[in-house]
Amino acid sequence: MPELPEVETVRRSLERLIGGCLIAEVNVREPRLRKPLAPHFAAALAGRIVQSIGRRGKYLNIGLDNGQIWLIHLGMTGQLIVSNLQEPLRKHDHIVVTLGDKRSLRYNDTRRFGLMAIGEEAEIETLMGLGVEPLTASFSTRYLWDKVQHTQRTVKDVLMDQRVVAGVGNIYASELLFRAKVQPGRLAGTLEQAATARIVKATKAVLREAIAHRGSSISDYLDGEGQPGSFQQRFRVYDQEGKPCRSCATPILRETHGGRSSFFCPTCQA
Ligand SMILES: [Zn+2]
Repeated sequence: MPELPEVETVRRSLERLIGGCLIAEVNVREPRLRKPLAPHFAAALAGRIVQSIGRRGKYLNIGLDNGQIWLIHLGMTGQLIVSNLQEPLRKHDHIVVTLGDKRSLRYNDTRRFGLMAIGEEAEIETLMGLGVEPLTASFSTRYLWDKVQHTQRTVKDVLMDQRVVAGVGNIYASELLFRAKVQPGRLAGTLEQAATARIVKATKAVLREAIAHRGSSISDYLDGEGQPGSFQQRFRVYDQEGKPCRSCATPILRETHGGRSSFFCPTCQA
C-alpha cells in the first residue's frame, strides 16, 4: 500500500508531467472505487486546468483553476500513469483523463480501494481528517509525547493512526521503530521522553531517505512515469523475518497485530 514516500514520489512526477495541463475530457469506465465516484465527477473535472499538485499524508490533492481540489487516495493498488493517447487501455484502467496535448492520465486500480473526490478545500480537509505532516516542525517530540500519554494502544498503532500523524503505514512504522530502538508492540504510554524523541527523529529520517529512493515497490506501486522505487532494497526489518539483524545478527521476528505484520529485532529494540 502506498505510504507517504510513494505518494510524494507520484506527486513529484505528476508535477513535472501534468502541471499547467488542460483536462480536456474525462472518461469514467468504472465508478465503483472504495466509495462510488460522485455522479458529477467527470463534469466537474472536464475543462479545468491543473494549477498545483499537493500532498497531504497519503492523499494527493490537485489544485484546479476554479479553486476546487481534486482529491486522490491510491488505496492499495492505485496507479496514476501518464501515457500517449494511442497507447491501448489496460485492464483496470478505471478513469481516463485526456489532456489538452494528446496525452492521457490513467487511473488503474486492480483492487479498487482507491478514493477520489472533487470539492472545496475546506470540505476536502474535513473529509481527510488528518493529523500533522511528519516532515514539518509540527511533528515534534512535544506533540507526540502529548499523544502517547494516557493511551492503551501500542506505539505502532499510534504512529499508523492518520489522525495523529499523516502518511506513516505498516512498512515505514516497522522501519522507523527499528531505528528508534523501540518495539512495535510496546504500549505507547510506557515510552520515555528520550524514546519519543528518537521516534520523531527516526520518522523524519526514514521518510526522507525513502523519498530520496523514490519509495518502495513491493507489489504494484509505480510513479507517474511507470517507474518503480528502490527503497525496498534498504529495508532493515520489514519483510526480513528470520534474516540476521544488520546491527547484531539476531534473527528478525514477525508478529501479527490486528491482521498486520510487524517486524523487529528483539535485541536492538526494547
Ligand atoms: Zn539487532
